[in-house]
Amino acid sequence: MANGTSAPAPTGTHYDAIVVGAGFSGLYLIYQLRKLGMSVHVIEAGAGVGGTWYWNRYPGARCDVESMEYCYSFDDALQQEWQWTERYPQQAEILTYLNHVADRFQLRSAIELNTRVTAAHYQESSKTWKVRTDKGTEYTSTFCIMASGCLSTVRVPPFPGIERFKGTWHHTARWPHTPVDFTGQRVGVIGTGSTGIQVIPQVAAQAKHLHVFQRTPNFSVPAHNGPLDRDYERDLKARYAAHRQAGRESMFGIPCDMPTLMVNQASAEEREAKFEAAWAYGGATRLLLAYMDLLVTDEANDTVANFVRNKIRAVVKDPQVADLLCPTDHPLGTKRICVDSNYYATYNRPNVTLVDVRSSPIEEITATGLKTRDANYDLDVLVFATGFDAMTGSLNAIDIQGRGGVKLKAQWEDGPKTYLGLMVSGFPNLFTVTGPGSPSVLSNVVVSIEQHIEWITNCIAHLRAQGLNTIEASAEAQEKWVQHVTDVGNTTLFPKANSWYTGANIPGKKKIFMPYVGGVGPYAQICSDVAQKNYEGFVLSA
Ligand code: FAD
Ligand code: NAP
Repeated sequence: MANGTSAPAPTGTHYDAIVVGAGFSGLYLIYQLRKLGMSVHVIEAGAGVGGTWYWNRYPGARCDVESMEYCYSFDDALQQEWQWTERYPQQAEILTYLNHVADRFQLRSAIELNTRVTAAHYQESSKTWKVRTDKGTEYTSTFCIMASGCLSTVRVPPFPGIERFKGTWHHTARWPHTPVDFTGQRVGVIGTGSTGIQVIPQVAAQAKHLHVFQRTPNFSVPAHNGPLDRDYERDLKARYAAHRQAGRESMFGIPCDMPTLMVNQASAEEREAKFEAAWAYGGATRLLLAYMDLLVTDEANDTVANFVRNKIRAVVKDPQVADLLCPTDHPLGTKRICVDSNYYATYNRPNVTLVDVRSSPIEEITATGLKTRDANYDLDVLVFATGFDAMTGSLNAIDIQGRGGVKLKAQWEDGPKTYLGLMVSGFPNLFTVTGPGSPSVLSNVVVSIEQHIEWITNCIAHLRAQGLNTIEASAEAQEKWVQHVTDVGNTTLFPKANSWYTGANIPGKKKIFMPYVGGVGPYAQICSDVAQKNYEGFVLSA
């Protein structure tokens, strides 16, 4: 046993449940499944627990949901005793928290680290899942639960020449465990999503020179991070249970006043004042929830998008650079809004240059740096902040085969289809935590994770109480749900953006708006109603 984690079990070992991934989801699954008295084995590719917060160690990595919201609520003593240091926690602090949870609830003995699941095949004869790993071991289980993460399959664009590069390069989500020193270095960062926007100010503060290679600008709003206000913490903890319940019933998993007005019901001055107040508070939620129709019509969205573009122009001194940093290709909020600390001001530094690789694309990585169509850049270090094959990437990377040997990847070629984002028709007893078709990445994900895991484990408890052992989504219920997810998405501006929400960042991936935008609270109610109606839309059998 290394680090208190379980060693690989002998091939052929059977578990009640096998879980893939030991992030927020995998850890909570161990806790809940054990409460049912089940044997559970978690297989994790990383060398430690924490998932996202284990892998993303780049400088500046932190949460953009406030610390008091972005943590488990299932154990009151845990949430009362844990003390966050900052309003938005850093990666290292979240990782410490998750390790604390693993120790506090003695979860490690269920986890096999440094092991990747390569295949999961349903065996109809025994009604079990056969799970294979890259170590050559095979286990079987009654339930197989994918807690493999929506943002865990990294994407490095296949630029020609990377193998020739004489400097060092890192993807932000595979960052070394020892600090990378940029002092005196010529650094290039590719990518200006949430990750790029966090890493760029940090690198700029150290590097001799930083070139930022931007293809598409994103909207970013200030975090206004700082030490966590202890009075605020005390007050919130005194009413934490009610606050958490409000989060579970809310739109994004964070308690927030809902808008009551449409944009054109307010005067221009009133709108400006409201946007200013949201900007001064920090984070994205208040800005997005300033008016009811901001994510519904282009005209409404333009008001808030113009507000942010004016903010960018007010900070960035060079008007040409400011223009390049102003997004114009998507409505604000239809791509994940970035939350930053001093991002735009970074472009006023003499050692930072913004390179527009939309007008002059990257052609290759050379031995000494990077070549765009129009210029060569000499670099010592290259940072890929180029994102993930989101939502389906980690599932499609596993050879998942259901009833009749049907491959999940083939079934999802035209876009993922699930019932409630929880199960897939033809794949009995296989659950997906925060799967496509659920609010997942549009929410405070920890709230969505808890809701999914509680639903899954209540469902398993129900099966066991009824003497049943198999559950599967019906094809009809799945079709209806997929249609509903699409219909609700189409009432918003979300499908307009070329975002990772739609798979547009991965060449060849079918463009479908994958998450459910109906809101965390309404979605949880639907899931709960389905369970109440004896798992309507699912087939339960012995
Ligand atoms: P993950 O944390 O992704 O864990 C999945 C684990 O599964 C990984 O450790 C992976 O190694 C493992 N795995 C995958 N495939 C296999 C396999 N085949 N075999 C074995 N192991 C496998 N969400 C928010 O709500 N607020 C935020 O502010 C926020 N910030 C984020 C910042 C970054 C940099 C990133 C990348 C994501 C952020 N997210 C945020 C989303 C974040 O992913 C979720 O909040 C949450 O951490 C997901 O937990 P998880 O356990 O479901 O998945
Ligand atoms: P991302 O949003 O997908 O951004 C990837 C960036 O790389 C984009 O700017 C993209 O440009 C660029 N890129 C990709 N391929 C390129 C190419 N061939 N040439 C030039 N540029 C290229 O990925 P991410 O920034 O890692 O964020 C992913 C998600 O993780 C976020 O949306 C968020 O949910 C989560 N996250 C959260 C935080 C936080 O603050 N809490 C921090 C990091 C990540 P194009 O847009 O032109 O494709």
